[in-house]
Amino acid sequence: MSASTVEDHLAHVENLLAPLSNRTPETVEIGDALGRVAFEDVKSPVDLPLFRNSQMDGYAVRAADIESVPTTLQVTGTIAAGPAQNAHVATGTALKIMTGAPVPDGADAVVPVEDTGPVESTAGGMSDRVSVTVSRRSGEYIREQGSDITAGTVLVRSGQVLGPRHIAVLAAVGLSHTEVRSRPRVAVITTGAELVDAGAPLQPGQIYDSNGVTLAAHLRANGAEVVGVHRSSDDPDEFHRILFEATGVAELVITSGGVSMGDFEVVKDVLTPLGGRFGSVLMQPGGPQGTAVIDGIPVLDFPGNPVSTVVSFLVFARNALRVAAGLNSIEPVRLPLSHPIESIVGKRQFLRGKVEDGSVSLTAGPGSHLVAAMAWADVLLDIPAETASYDAGDQVEVLPL
Ligand code: AMP
Ligand code: MG
Repeated sequence: MSASTVEDHLAHVENLLAPLSNRTPETVEIGDALGRVAFEDVKSPVDLPLFRNSQMDGYAVRAADIESVPTTLQVTGTIAAGPAQNAHVATGTALKIMTGAPVPDGADAVVPVEDTGPVESTAGGMSDRVSVTVSRRSGEYIREQGSDITAGTVLVRSGQVLGPRHIAVLAAVGLSHTEVRSRPRVAVITTGAELVDAGAPLQPGQIYDSNGVTLAAHLRANGAEVVGVHRSSDDPDEFHRILFEATGVAELVITSGGVSMGDFEVVKDVLTPLGGRFGSVLMQPGGPQGTAVIDGIPVLDFPGNPVSTVVSFLVFARNALRVAAGLNSIEPVRLPLSHPIESIVGKRQFLRGKVEDGSVSLTAGPGSHLVAAMAWADVLLDIPAETASYDAGDQVEVLPL
């Protein structure tokens, strides 16, 4: 691969990742379904409400008995929410009823407790009668069976990203499990003799491996299942072993580091004889790029500078993965610049920026080692290769992070 444009390399990567879009269903408990994508339309097995029930704490009555108010009814018992009781409301009587309790036979309205009052017995103290002060029509304060949805209604469409509200309705109709789109299984391999885990003691010359956890986070945020985060030294045998371990379990492997022009480019050195394509893409950061297919598994090889790694992921892999996962792709928008900027001609620049009050400004210079400035950014400015400068107020393409 000689120097190629971002468009060409993107088309190549999307082609490699296209098979990931053929997903199988996976059954998950609804408690674990948050953020997953419905595999097919889900129909309700039942009516909602499941049965005719009271909307209020009050009295189940016959509407005909309370056409003129105030009037007094004989209270013959109480119905709580819970197991159904065999109860009946006869003319001139009422049953005390709680919200959600089944409306008894004979009753066709509920009078809220606020519209009733106590009746004193002739002997003093409270009687088992109630005074109804507000007339209620037949059906009032009764939730009819199926008035929300009837059995067979589609609750969630295929492709819906399941949020808390979808989980709510699945639970309400009694579905304990649901079928979701399986997530693309992705493994990450970082490379570099200088890398150690965050928190581990540092020897001189060592740095913390940030790309492993960062790529894993980006992958999860975009619908992938991370099936391994490995690290290899710059020893080809070690990388080779870890690579084949990863391709054994993953549908996609992403590597970081070892693809440039240095002396110990382990990824390039191991993958080139295996048919890998390495070269530079006319972009900054993220210029050195590689791809390979190992045992049918695509391998994307990003440069190791932390900003380059992330920009590579965002530009080349994010949308392809999201599409495979069943998520919407993230498209650039146009925003005005809050200050002038200069750009290097000949390479497409992806600069870190921040949006404030509807316009975008840079969080730092172009250096691909500037991790903190990346953290402060919420967009990437996408500056075309031929553009040397922009004035304040000019519209630029920005890619949400
Ligand atoms: P490379 O692409 O392997 O030449 O690495 C380029 C730069 O990125 C070097 O300064 C590396 O130390 C650094 N780097 C490579 N991999 C990582 C990583 N996983 N985490 C943090 N920095 C890295
Ligand atoms: Mg390296």
